[in-house]
Amino acid sequence: MSEHDRAFMEIPRKDPGYRRRELRLKDWRAVERQFTAEELRDQAARCMDCGIPFCHGCGCPLENIIPEFNELAFRGRWAEAWEILASTDPLAEFTALVCPAPCEGACVAGLHGNPVSIRQVERMVVDQAFQEGLVRPQPPAVRRPERVAVIGSGPAGLATAWWLNRRGYWVTVFETASKPGGILRYGIPDFKLEKRILDRRLQLMQAEGIVFETGVNVGRDLSARYVHSRFEATVLTGGARQPRDLPVPGRELDGVHFAMPYLTQQNRRVDNEVIPEAESIFARNRTVTIIGGGDTGADCLGTALRQGAQHVYQFEIMPQPPPDRSPATPWPEWPNKMRESSSHQEGGERRWSVMTKRLEGRDGRVARLHACEVSWEADASGRAVPREIPGSDFAVDTDLVLLALGFTGPGRNCYVEELQLERDDRGIPRRDDNHMTSEPGVFIAGDMAQGASLIVRALADGAHAARGVDAYLRRRGA
Ligand SMILES: Cc1cc2nc3c(=O)[nH]c(=O)nc-3n(C[C@H](O)[C@H](O)[C@H](O)COP(=O)(O)OP(=O)(O)OC[C@H]3O[C@@H](n4cnc5c(N)ncnc54)[C@H](O)[C@@H]3O)c2cc1C
Ligand code: SF4
Repeated sequence: MSEHDRAFMEIPRKDPGYRRRELRLKDWRAVERQFTAEELRDQAARCMDCGIPFCHGCGCPLENIIPEFNELAFRGRWAEAWEILASTDPLAEFTALVCPAPCEGACVAGLHGNPVSIRQVERMVVDQAFQEGLVRPQPPAVRRPERVAVIGSGPAGLATAWWLNRRGYWVTVFETASKPGGILRYGIPDFKLEKRILDRRLQLMQAEGIVFETGVNVGRDLSARYVHSRFEATVLTGGARQPRDLPVPGRELDGVHFAMPYLTQQNRRVDNEVIPEAESIFARNRTVTIIGGGDTGADCLGTALRQGAQHVYQFEIMPQPPPDRSPATPWPEWPNKMRESSSHQEGGERRWSVMTKRLEGRDGRVARLHACEVSWEADASGRAVPREIPGSDFAVDTDLVLLALGFTGPGRNCYVEELQLERDDRGIPRRDDNHMTSEPGVFIAGDMAQGASLIVRALADGAHAARGVDAYLRRRGA
């Protein structure tokens, strides 16, 4: 028996919580607190070291070796804990901060109680590793002759580049934006992920030999023919940025915007960029309505509150989730249940089962939103569809509407078109088990291939694509 065998029964789960609301709303810095060393030790002790760790095999898309790093963190053996974590999750500083932790949904301790705070343990391992100087540039000892182009620098592109560089390939990452990082930089607000964390990793990757070419739209600024003549393999990691629209009367009014341009602007402001007045989307003194109750909507909420919005509504068409795991998502699945982000604790008015019917304008700008409540009922095929509840119509005054309804796919991509890659019914390029598309030597990974998802899945998919590229180039070279 180990010294903490019964800890999961004796020590309750704890979360570190957030900085005080009144203070955090005054700045853009990260809101999440951190455990003390003692708290972390207690929480790591709650891991039961299960015979079959579902967190590792079923929960974490990266298959992080969770029980082992939990145990090493409990013992304060940070170098070994980092070695184990980095063996599957070398860019773990991102997951440690913003992963929704599907591993915790599959934790055995969660079957009859609360799961282990795995993400917090991961976070402490990462912090200790950086503090102790364990994360240093490690260029490959031997270089291979082949060059690989990675198109897109979000988490999928970064993971692909990291793993290929580690295997000795010369990697160039092309990025259309002015700085690398994809949604890590331009989508997720600093109050969840400070950009110094991203810049620290980019510096390490550059010191390891990875080249970043920013401000280059591959397919428009560089042709596929040019890229093919310079690189032996290409990996497409352009993300899924086509936003879902809201086809209601009044959609064309001023003051109605997609969430991503709004979030991107604020991330640029925090990075000291000046947004021209004519393009600026800003919530100060506005009554904001966010349509879409997901994480992107929550990021808009926290942003609008920090910008000084007068009032913020967040409307979601789906019903309010149950307080505890719904029977429709039994363990070890990711539980459908009510969640509250740091932004929700900061303010705003959240409503579910709300369908927007039309937007009304005044002098060309949105002024009022008309909506109704819906119930969800099965249609003839058994599919749940929203039905308007008679007499439930209501309207709210609003002068800024943000559409956070998710993403439909990668959208138009000149590179994909030039290569005439085979696509599926959703327009996504097909890929084989090694993530190679119909064009030999052209691979695809991340949201661009899987649809809008999570950072942890983009990292896992990028690692998978890197293995595919390695196998392809070795076969070719043999
Ligand atoms: C607002 C928001 C908040 C989110 N928060 C979280 C969170 O807290 N936790 C979580 O796990 N997930 C979160 N997600 C989801 C997560 O960010 C994505 O699943 C992930 O970033 C996908 O990674 P990716 O590398 O595939 O694509 P992206 O991050 O979208 O990166 C794609 C990159 O490719 C570039 N690109 C596209 N086409 C070209 C081209 N032709 N030439 C050159 N470059 C090109 C783009 O500019 C972009 O930088 C969030 C998503 C959004 C929108
Ligand atoms: S990456 Fe996410 S799912 Fe995997 S162990 Fe970390 S928090 Fe859990």
